[in-house]
Amino acid sequence: MKSHRFLLDLSLKKLLLIRNMSLSSQHILVGGSVAIDNIKTPHSEGLNLLGGSASYTAIASSFYTSQVSLIGIIGKDFPQEHLQLLKSRHIDVNGLEISNGNTFSWTGEYHENMNDRTTHDVAINVLENWTVKVPEAQRTAPLVILANMHPENQMQLLDQMQTADQKAPFVLADTMDLWITIANDRLHDVLKRIDILVINESEARQFASTSHLIQAGKRLLAKGPRFVIIKLGEFGAMLFENHNNVGSPNQFDHEINLFRCPAFPLEAVADPTGAGDSFLGATTGYLATTGKTEFTFEDIKQGMIHGSVIASFTCEAFSTNRLQAVSQAEIDARLTKLKQLNHW
Ligand code: AMP
Repeated sequence: MKSHRFLLDLSLKKLLLIRNMSLSSQHILVGGSVAIDNIKTPHSEGLNLLGGSASYTAIASSFYTSQVSLIGIIGKDFPQEHLQLLKSRHIDVNGLEISNGNTFSWTGEYHENMNDRTTHDVAINVLENWTVKVPEAQRTAPLVILANMHPENQMQLLDQMQTADQKAPFVLADTMDLWITIANDRLHDVLKRIDILVINESEARQFASTSHLIQAGKRLLAKGPRFVIIKLGEFGAMLFENHNNVGSPNQFDHEINLFRCPAFPLEAVADPTGAGDSFLGATTGYLATTGKTEFTFEDIKQGMIHGSVIASFTCEAFSTNRLQAVSQAEIDARLTKLKQLNHW
């Protein structure tokens, strides 16, 4: 019993040590949408909020490394305070193009259970004719996040990456139902060039044409990525790897390894927008602290735990209001609690 406790303490210490490693962490390049969101929940409403897949992802990554570069496009109407916020998290915005049009805007409403939402309006605006441009100095980033955006834009970004040693970067990508429907072929091209696909549960079922999650994970792996993460909202996430790791506790069957990552339990959710993006940003952020450029199933498991913790903060207020104000002590406390809650 005592040695059990000692081992738990040791691994907690390892988990918490991460925070002291951020100075040597690697460069993460994040491309995606930067948006103005209008969000209604059963209890409240927020207008003109900072939103967008890349905004949440970059802010989440910025807790782990001081080198986060954001690739996106905004219009002249983009509020200065949103830009200031990104800069205050030491995010490099040299690749954030400012166009003459209006910023991409998303208007949505959550239903009573806070899981289902209805999109009321999507104003594509500056995203319509956007061609991604990655500044020269950012093209060697070893870690790339293709946050939710058109697969064509994801390909444009990837085509410009050229790591110093000619080695391809490690790439994580998200997507959504819209692209599965209207840009299916291009999305399949993206899948052949990425290491980890991160996708919502309902979208995984849609994309893989099956209602069974394990089957969905296997079918998505067969489309190209080495790993697939299926996000389950308030129920956590699942990691799939196409590998028969005999003897590993994560060996599921003769084909795949599986990890069931818990979510951090919250008593109340104010606004879950961007939780998935925050999960993605923090998972990658953890990977950046390892100093590696190739990652194992075990590395990604650890990253997902950080993803769960950071995503939980995002859910506690509108937009990035809670996330941006989180202290390292609060992150550490939730990492510890999550570990304790899931240990037996
Ligand atoms: P999530 O809650 O993780 O699905 O992310 C929500 C964010 O995605 C919001 O801040 C939106 O601005 C952004 N978003 C919604 N629709 C799109 C779209 N079609 N393309 C890119 N980003 C989007």
